[in-house]
This record gives sequence, C-alpha cells and structure tokens, in this order.
Amino acid sequence: KQQQQKPHIVIFPSPAMGHLIPLSEFAKRLVLTHNFSVTFIIPNFGFPIKSQKSFLDSSMPKTIQVLYLPPPPPLADVPSDADPSFFVITAMTRAVPALRDSLKLLTESTRLVALIVDVVGTDSFEVAREFNLLRYIFVPLCAMSLSLLLHLPKLDEGAQAHGYSDYKDIPDPIKIPGCIPIRGTQFVDMLQNRNTHTYKLFIYHTKRYNLADGIIVNSFLELESGAFNAFADDGEDGSGKKPPIYPIGPLLQTRPISGNDDDVECLRWLDEQPRGSVLFASFGSSGTLSQEQLTELALGLEMSEQRFIWVVRSPAKDGASGVHYNAQSINKDDDPFDFLPKGFMERTRRGGLGLLVRSWAPQIQILSHGSTGGFLSHCGWNSILESLVNGVPLIAWPLFGEQEMHTEMLTKQFKIAFRPNKNEEDGLVGREEIAKLVRDLILGEGGKPLRQKARELKEAAATATSAHGSSARSLVQVIQIWKNHETVML
Ligand code: UDP
Repeated sequence: KQQQQKPHIVIFPSPAMGHLIPLSEFAKRLVLTHNFSVTFIIPNFGFPIKSQKSFLDSSMPKTIQVLYLPPPPPLADVPSDADPSFFVITAMTRAVPALRDSLKLLTESTRLVALIVDVVGTDSFEVAREFNLLRYIFVPLCAMSLSLLLHLPKLDEGAQAHGYSDYKDIPDPIKIPGCIPIRGTQFVDMLQNRNTHTYKLFIYHTKRYNLADGIIVNSFLELESGAFNAFADDGEDGSGKKPPIYPIGPLLQTRPISGNDDDVECLRWLDEQPRGSVLFASFGSSGTLSQEQLTELALGLEMSEQRFIWVVRSPAKDGASGVHYNAQSINKDDDPFDFLPKGFMERTRRGGLGLLVRSWAPQIQILSHGSTGGFLSHCGWNSILESLVNGVPLIAWPLFGEQEMHTEMLTKQFKIAFRPNKNEEDGLVGREEIAKLVRDLILGEGGKPLRQKARELKEAAATATSAHGSSARSLVQVIQIWKNHETVML
C-alpha cells in the first residue's frame, strides 16, 4: 500500500534565510510539479527564529508541512570562545534525537524516501539510514563553495604540514579543484582560522560528505563548468570519491519577501524610468556600511548623475565598513535616512533621479524590471543569481562571508562586474570612484563588455532551466532516484 503513496521528502535546514529561501523553492517545485509531499523539520536553536518562522508560515503552500522541534537540553559544555555559527551547527546535531522521533512518526503514515540536509547537517545521516532513507545535501551556494568544502580536509592537511594556522598567512593563491585560485584572505570568514571551533566542525562535516547519496547545488553547469567537471574527477585531487552532484539552479524565490508599503511606490517609479537606466544598490538581507562609507556612497551616487534605487540601512555602530547586521552593532529603531548626508534626501527627491528605500526592497521585482541596468551588490549568492537571470551587470562590493570569493568569480571568471578600489589612507571607497563606476556600468564604454556578458549569461541561465536544459535534466535524474526508492515497511 505504501508504494502507491506519493513519495515523501523531509528537509532539515539550518536557519540562515539565504538557505531557507532556495530550499523552500525547491520544496515547492517537488510538490507542485513532481507530485511529492514534503515536510520541513526545523531544529530548535534555543533563540527566537521569528523571521524564519514568519517566512515559512507565509510562503509555504498548505501542502507543505512545517514541524518545529522542541528545544534540546541546555548546552552545558560550550566553549566560552565559540562564535554564533558554532551554536547553530551544534544545535543541528543536538536536534537529531528529536528528528528521529519525527521521522518515526512520518514513516508510519507516509512513504518517506529521502532526507535533505544543509551543509552542516550530516549528523542526521545515521538516523536517516535507520529508516532506510536516501541522504542528500542541499548546497544553496555556488559550485566553487562546494568545491572548497569538499577539498577542505585536503587543504587542512596541507596547511598543517606547512605550519599555517590561518589560511590568510599562506602567501600563494590557493588552488581549489576546477576553480580560479583565490587567496586565503578571500576564504569565507568561518573557514579562515584553522583553530576555531567552527572550523573544526566544518572539517568534521565535510569529511562526512561522502556518506551522502547525492549533493544538490543551486548553480548550473554552464556557469561553473570547471568546478562541476572537477567533481567528476573522482579522487584525483586526493579528496576521495564524491557522491553524485546535481546542479539544479538557478533556483530563485518566486514570491518576493514583502517589505513595506514603499514596494509599490518603488516599482511605480521604475515604470517611469528609461530602459536600462537605473542602478539598484543593496547589501543583501544583513549588510551594513560604516557612517563614513555610507556618506561616500550617497555622494558618489549623486555625482554619477545616474538614476538609482538605494536600500539604505542604518550604519554599524562599531564603524567597520561592512560588518554583519546584528543586534549589538546597530539599533534597529534608528531611521536609516537620519544617517544620510545633509541635504542629500531633498536634492535626490527634487532632482527625481534617485529613490531611497528603508532597509528592504522588492529585489526580485526590481532586478527583473526593464528599467534596471546595474546592481551594486554585496554579492550574496542569491543576489548574484537574481542579477544573472535578469542579465544585469554588477558593481561588486563584498562585505563578509563568501562575498570576497564571489567577487573574484564575478570580476575574473564571469566578467560581469566591476570592483571598486578603496582609498589607501582610510580603506573607504571614495565618492569619485563610485560615480565613475556607476556611469561606466550603466552607459560607459568600459561597461559595454560587462553588459554584453550579462546578456549572454542570462541566456545561458534560461537554457539551463528550460525543459531539456542541464539543470532540468539533473533535477529529473535525482527525482527518478527518489521515486524508484523502495521504502521499508515498518
Ligand atoms: N532581498 C530582498 N530585499 C532586500 C534585500 C534582500 O528581497 O532589500 C532578498 C534578495 O532578493 C535575496 C536575499 O534576500 O534573495 C538575499 O540573499 P543573498 O544570498 O544575496 O544575501 P544574504 O542576505 O544571504 O547575505
């Protein structure tokens, strides 16, 4: 009887919004197009996950079930110098007994075939095996990030042998299979220092990636062919045999995350602008600038004399340019517009050239609007994919995380972005530099090759996800495996 039921998939994600968004889109695709049923099982992190909860509650169709696990017992043994990522990753592990209880219940009533986890969820694999479930890792990142993760144990051995405790001290660029070489300073922050607790957890999880039955990546073959081809060279790089890897991207959010009433005004304003004339400036869901950098950006946009929409966020209190938006560094009650240079708002409004938005904008709709011609971005992977799908060239302004690495790819590999130079004295990107790059990107000669390349990649992305494209084919492959999987009757 069970074999006649719809195949059922359980997704066990980590809490980052940049991960939840593509995973929820993936789930919707499975349910609406491929006749699966899906349950999200959300680990309890011991702190409020309000934004995640409201996102899941509002964006999931009724047919997708969301279960919230109870809190695990308090952590008694957490090192005092551990960072927030350590808590999140540890919480995923400690949620495994509660996950087992939920899986047990689900196997009694559904035809459960596979468990999909995030990049740090491999501790749930043993439980999945108990219930004869297939085990998959969903990587909401680029193939280069996956290549780095798969190669990390090997890199770690090399760094150990040469006595480097931090990748930033390695003088030569570091080779990641199939990818452009990058410097240790361009590694994602969490993986820079080999002595941190979080780094050690990553080493532990990445060594377990070969336990997976497959790895699903939100990128596409034609975009990162080097990395994808290198995955196929099993073991040649010394990192051992890898599970099959399925590029299924670009997978973007289909419904914009609603911000505020300004959304409508913003889109109406765009309707009135000439084609390809507007620069969209935004630093993702959490990026902020220092007060000094905010001022330079404002004046640079003004000097460029180009049209723009800028998502303004209050500056970080600690003054660093480009720190994470968090409760300690910024006061959420501040009005971001209070931090703009004197007279800037009035001049912008009067001139009609620019539109300022507080904290959040309907990014997907802005990038897909014909009036948008450029994107000044912090270079989160979702933002990059959204820009690429719409053929919009970028100014790459990395702040943290994988964004340095993405910038290297955008400027040197995909060749669809400018990177602004920083002043030597104060480390800021000056207003003249900003003005020059914005003009060049939107209408200058220098931006022509970028605009052309962006159009080509738009085509390539559309082809990859079209009926017989590379991403569509690899999605069908993995879906067939899930549909054919025999479940064990309990
Ligand atoms: N986003 C948005 N409006 C904003 C800022 C961000 O809709 O004002 C969306 C954006 O479209 C993207 C996601 O939030 O889908 C940000 O993900 P990304 O990976 O680019 O960066 P992160 O926020 O994870 O650093």
